Amino acid sequence: MISQLSAGCLCGFICFSAANPQRPYCCSCDICQKHTGSHRVVWLEFAAGDVQWNGEGGKPSLYRSSDVSSRFFCSQCGSLVSAIDDGPSVALLTGLFDQ
Ligand SMILES: [Zn+2]
Ligand SMILES: [Zn+2]
Repeated sequence: MISQLSAGCLCGFICFSAANPQRPYCCSCDICQKHTGSHRVVWLEFAAGDVQWNGEGGKPSLYRSSDVSSRFFCSQCGSLVSAIDDGPSVALLTGLFDQ
């Protein structure tokens, strides 16, 4: 498995690399459905310290989506990027990855 992945949003303002992917999973909860407009989304989870935001836009814009979690998106093109729990992990949408 590739351990270092690169990714970015539709316009390229938000770019990031992520190492040591932990687990992929699907989610169909109400928040994911509203966030993405899709019935089911596929996330890939990383330790927060393994994700480097290295694009011009730095960290994506933040929306507080519940008491325990936030959602990241690109403020320029509106691409959805990430779900970030208050815990130590970051879930990234798999469609953003270049590989
Ligand atoms: Zn963008
Ligand atoms: Zn969900």
